Amino acid sequence: MDAIYIILAIPVFILSILIELAYDRYRRTGLYNFADTISCLSCGVGQQILLPFTGMLGLWVYQVVQARCGLFTISPSALWAWVVMFLIDDFLYYLYHWGSHRVNILWATHAVHHQSEEYNLSVALRQSWFTSLTSWVFYLPLALLGFPLLMFVIVRTFNTLYQFWIHTRAVGKLGFLESFLNTPSHHRVHHGINPKYIDRNHAGILIIWDKLLGTFQQEEEEPVYGTVKPLASFNPVWANFAELERLWDISCRTRRLRDKIWIWFAPPEWHPADLGGVVVIPQASRATQRKYQVSQPLGVSLYTVLSFAVLLAASTLFIYIAPNLSPALQLLCIAHLVVGLAACSALEEGKSWGKTVELMRFVALLGSLPLIPAVYQLGVLTTIAVHLTLFALLRRGKALSLDQVSPL
Ligand SMILES: [Zn+2]
Ligand SMILES: [Zn+2]
Repeated sequence: MDAIYIILAIPVFILSILIELAYDRYRRTGLYNFADTISCLSCGVGQQILLPFTGMLGLWVYQVVQARCGLFTISPSALWAWVVMFLIDDFLYYLYHWGSHRVNILWATHAVHHQSEEYNLSVALRQSWFTSLTSWVFYLPLALLGFPLLMFVIVRTFNTLYQFWIHTRAVGKLGFLESFLNTPSHHRVHHGINPKYIDRNHAGILIIWDKLLGTFQQEEEEPVYGTVKPLASFNPVWANFAELERLWDISCRTRRLRDKIWIWFAPPEWHPADLGGVVVIPQASRATQRKYQVSQPLGVSLYTVLSFAVLLAASTLFIYIAPNLSPALQLLCIAHLVVGLAACSALEEGKSWGKTVELMRFVALLGSLPLIPAVYQLGVLTTIAVHLTLFALLRRGKALSLDQVSPL
């Protein structure tokens, strides 16, 4: 729901990632894995292009509740109102984030943000496509108090933007700021899968909520990043459905009706007794972690990077022009972009269906050309021609990871 302002920050996000990437390559610190970064950005792109459909419900309910049930008339011109709203919103974010780690149906979407085994600025953009369908419920107290919708969108956006810069390993501890702010060090702990780091530091901006409510953990050794059960995939579509599939599988296999229902609301480590009972979080160390890696012929790697760059540009254009398109055309564009992102990951991972889906995508795009506004038709045709030419690159060269072909 805060994406209206966040899309304006996209150039800043991309520039910051490029600066961190250059720092990484210069210092040889291993902060980035290209395939993982494309996967993270694909999740972020998918979340943004789906927002017209997933985010509107929350905004609509907020407005209705505030207009009909708001207890107070609050003016945006009062400074105290912004301060009070910032504090309440940040606390409600803490509750939402805590719930997203302790209730399976919420974790099923939030897990997307934690699946990367790296920790860099691109991970901040790795967002679930479906979180917006449920997160708005946690902010309704603000509507009930009477805070106007515009104030809510601005404060929520500020909170979300703040959390971008704390996704980095390039910044150490920050002295007295660590005592009250959420910092890179505190949030690294949150992404850790070491048993002592699990479900700690849920804060948005102020770490005080964790300190007050007993969920705070100081960063000691550097965390092992990821999820306890690794995703082992760079496919952004699978990333968004993997945890839902796990819950569905458990609810089908367990025998007791009570367990079939409870699995959707239980904490992630809970398992029905007939499927082995509660899972013990295993020890983890950076020395023994085996990260998911891929390597493909050089031509495939180059094709993937170029194809993703085109999809990123097309998605940004879509976000800006979407309000002027019919819902049917919006859905068509979203389907094309999502399939493109999935095909990108499939080519990267050497899946047999990647090339076929990629070709079908262009055939479908050619077929829908009459539906596309005339001003964009030449651009679409050029894009198809470039991609089909680049298809010749596929299967050229020896297998390399994208990191090995980085010019930086
Ligand atoms: Zn989290
Ligand atoms: Zn995070």
